Amino acid sequence: MTTTTPATDTTPRVWIGCLACYNDGRLVGDWFDAASADEVTLADVHEGSGLDYAECEELWVFDHENIPVRGELAPLTAAVWGKCLAKVDEHLRPALCAWVESGDYIAEGNTDLPSISDFEERYCGAWENFREYAENLADDIGLLADVPEEIARYFDWQTWSRDLAMDYSTYDDPEGGVFVFRVL
Ligand SMILES: [Zn+2]
Repeated sequence: MTTTTPATDTTPRVWIGCLACYNDGRLVGDWFDAASADEVTLADVHEGSGLDYAECEELWVFDHENIPVRGELAPLTAAVWGKCLAKVDEHLRPALCAWVESGDYIAEGNTDLPSISDFEERYCGAWENFREYAENLADDIGLLADVPEEIARYFDWQTWSRDLAMDYSTYDDPEGGVFVFRVL
């Protein structure tokens, strides 16, 4: 089971730009932490551009990373996602994002945000494959603990883990392997 910090950075980030400047053909903006996207000001975005932003009004998220949403966002929406994703440990974020991207996740109330308690209840870790999870589970529950070694070696792992897989969903881990979720 993978519990180390992922090789890639999982911080939700947004590229916030000025909409008025963009419409004038100038790309003025920068990368910010998604969680504080709603606190970014026109001054922050125009800093260093040398442009007068007295006529500028609206900020917009033109690009983002580590947020499981497609396309552009309003900064306020990005901040809500950033704060939601920050509720889980860094090493769990890729699994949380994969769960949301699968479309088969539990949302919080009538929002698109994932329910963190439902995620924590269902997530069973990152594994090489489902079989590895199944064998580990068998160890944990002592499935063959009382069976003599010479009989246990004939245990049909393939059929057992295939049947067990009916109660689970797996999603690809971009770093390799799978994320295993219990179906409740
Ligand atoms: Zn501007």
